[in-house]
Amino acid sequence: MRVRNFGHAGRVPVVGQGTWKMEHDDRAEAIAALGRGLDLGLVHVDTAELYGSGVVEELVAEAIAGRRDEVFLVSKVMPDHATHAGTLRACEQSLRRLRTDRLDCYLLHWPGRHPLEGTLRAFEELVRAGKIRSWGVSNFDTGELDEALRIAGPGRIACNQVLYHLGERAVELEVLPWCERHGVTLVGYSPFGSGRFPRADSAGGRVLDDVARAHGATARQVALAFLVRHPATLAIPKAARVAHAEDCAGAGDLELTEDEARRIAEAFPLPRRRGGLPTL
Ligand code: NAP
Repeated sequence: MRVRNFGHAGRVPVVGQGTWKMEHDDRAEAIAALGRGLDLGLVHVDTAELYGSGVVEELVAEAIAGRRDEVFLVSKVMPDHATHAGTLRACEQSLRRLRTDRLDCYLLHWPGRHPLEGTLRAFEELVRAGKIRSWGVSNFDTGELDEALRIAGPGRIACNQVLYHLGERAVELEVLPWCERHGVTLVGYSPFGSGRFPRADSAGGRVLDDVARAHGATARQVALAFLVRHPATLAIPKAARVAHAEDCAGAGDLELTEDEARRIAEAFPLPRRRGGLPTL
């Protein structure tokens, strides 16, 4: 499993595990899938207070019970809670639901109405208190990243978690270069299009299958390998089935040739012009 910097916050494998909507999955199977993912090195586990209104954090707690030190655990504060006091409170509640004493990274889920100064001041206090090891942001466009950098100074923002999959590569245009310039890791969410993965009988699907065959891999493994081809990116697929977690883990060592990456990039082209930051 290849590993990369997570901003300044440590090293993590290129593929992690998402948990959005896991409250709707078979609970025992989802917990088993997360555990199997950990066994196979998918130790970056991404959750949020938003997910199932806290139910998913409780499920994650069960999956990582007795294994906390193996895990790079990330959760997120909802923008509506992200005042200074609200952020401190939300973090305590996430720690309680996750049955742990610290997060490896804590994110603002998306830019909201509360001034960023208060949120980031709370994040820094949580770092000093040892309750979080680092902090980052999510769904931040370059202007918002500029503001966060102005407030926090260099070397503080560990990651920006943004939508990034084969059908949605807009972040490569400006957000990824911004992240690279400032040592911020781009964590790509919904790497399989959140359930809208290219069909095998589509033109793009045929390219993926072709590359997959050359490596004895699957199309999804090829997609993940493409998304993490850049050294500043990570991907966090969500798998609530053991077989899916095993498949995702198989992407951790898959490296594409330049020619394969070029063919995939042509089959799933960048947008011509940059619009706003894509989100789900
Ligand atoms: P995704 O990872 O793009 O796709 C998940 C879907 O793919 C599920 O239906 C899953 O099925 C299926 N799947 C996973 N591995 C598979 C495999 N190897 N073969 C076949 N199917 C497979 O979707 P996502 O949940 O939207 O995104 C991933 C994570 O990113 C989230 O869970 C969350 O942690 C994070 N996220 C963050 C934000 C944000 O605003 N910051 C927004 C969205 C997502 P099963 O579940 O049945 O295994």
